[in-house]
Formats: sequence, structure tokens, C-alpha cells
Amino acid sequence: MNFHIMTLFPEMVMQGLDTSIIGRAMENGIIDIEAVNIRDYAFNKHNKVDDYIYGGGAGMLMQAEPVYLCHEDVVRRINEGRGRDGKEPVSPRVIYLTPQGRVFNQKMAEEFAKEEELILLCGHYEGIDERVLEEIVTDNVSIGDFVLTGGELPAMTIVDAVSRLIPGVLNNDVSAEFETFKDDLLEYPQYSRPEVWHGKRVPEILLSGHHANIEKWRHEQSLKRTAERRPDLLKRSAVTDDENNEKRQKND
Ligand code: SAM
Repeated sequence: MNFHIMTLFPEMVMQGLDTSIIGRAMENGIIDIEAVNIRDYAFNKHNKVDDYIYGGGAGMLMQAEPVYLCHEDVVRRINEGRGRDGKEPVSPRVIYLTPQGRVFNQKMAEEFAKEEELILLCGHYEGIDERVLEEIVTDNVSIGDFVLTGGELPAMTIVDAVSRLIPGVLNNDVSAEFETFKDDLLEYPQYSRPEVWHGKRVPEILLSGHHANIEKWRHEQSLKRTAERRPDLLKRSAVTDDENNEKRQKND
């Protein structure tokens, strides 16, 4: 999978992603991440890409044209590369990171992980001229109900969450399968050595070697934890009404 991040701060994005699991996945050619500097598409000699906002108000806005030219170039290069590999041209999804978007979640990560090419557009200052957003953006995505200074951290968040769903990125593919948010449940508590730490014992069942019982315990713990910490998830969870009732009773 190839990520193309349009940003004014490419070093920030690449430095943040070029480590640990994601860095290794890039090294192994499982994913590719490029950060493209929108400033390279400025159409004036000072490389200026922002200007005052019509109608007044504080701050500056990223202008439409550099963003448009940058996007055009990214798509052209993507399709040149695909042409060389004998693949059909594509019109990749363009995700604009914005506090005004749909709030990102694991289901969206799963949906984005099906794409071969993904373009992420990072705003800065007061954002980006609406006209270019209307022309190129396919998805408006937020990472939460708060306002950041730029779209770079949100873009990195999405690249990280999506990448770890790509087969081969995690050492053990199973580790992405049974996790928090799978079936709208939080993951059960987990323990590693030693068996006793600060006087706390690892739950006996986990040492029993009885896989069916362990699975049952873990599922119960997932329900319990979700009810305690994120009851909103249980409402839309795939677990049965019986299980939900059972959980609520335990929690009362
Ligand atoms: N004036 C904009 C508004 O009120 O919607 C906010 C602009 S914000 C200061 C600058 C940029 O940061 C945005 O264009 C966006 O790319 C990014 N950004 C800020 N908060 C974000 C969030 N919660 N999720 C995704 N991107 C965000």
C-alpha cells in the first residue's frame, strides 16, 4: 500500500513514521510512504502558500492553487508508476484531515486499508481554501473533537492505524485480529512474566492451559471492560443481547 502525504512539513511526517514497526514495514517494501511538500508547488518567487482570508478574521489560509498542483502531480506520478507495473490508472481517495470531518475509528482504518493508494492532505494555519477542497477531497476525517495546529499528527495517526492492518506489517498477523474495537469491544486485560508482581497474581485461568476456558474468560473480560469504560460501544456491538444483559447485571 502506498501513502502520499501532502504537507508543508514533510520532515515532521517522515521522522515520525520512519521508526519501529512502520519504519521496518517501509524498509521491507510492504508499505511506501512519501511526504510531498506543498510549498514546492508555490507559484510565486517567495514560495508563499498562504494568504489573508476574504471577509476578514484572524490568521492565514493555505491557497488553492499550490494544493491543486501538488495533488495533480501526485496523481500523475502514481499513475505513471502503475503504468510501469502494468496496472490500471486510479483516482485515489483524498483524505483531508480536518476537525470538521467524520471522527476516525477502527472501522475507517479497515476501510482505508483496502486501498492501494491513499492521499492524505494536511492543512495548516486556518486551513485550506474551500474551492480546492471541493475539487479534490473525497473524505473529510477528524481525529477527535479538538483543534490542532496542523494535519500532520492526524495524518501520521491514520497512516499508523491503517498500516498495521496490512498483512506482513506486524510480525504476527494474528495480533491485529483480536484487539480493542474488534466487534466494538475493548480488549481484555493482559499479563506477562512474572506470575506475581507487587503481590498481584496473574489470573489463575491464564496459567491453566485450557484454551476454551481462557477464550471464554477473555470474552467476559472484554464485555466487562467495555461496559465499564465505553458503554457507548456496547450499544452498537455485535455481541448478543443476552451477553449485553449478562454484562449489565454483573456491572450493577
Ligand atoms: N479553522 C479550522 C476550523 O475551525 O475548522 C481549523 C484549522 S486547524 C488550526 C489547521 C489544520 O489542522 C486543519 O486544516 C487540519 O488539517 C488540521 N487539524 C486540526 N485539528 C484537527 C483534527 N482534530 N483532526 C484532523 N485534522 C485537524
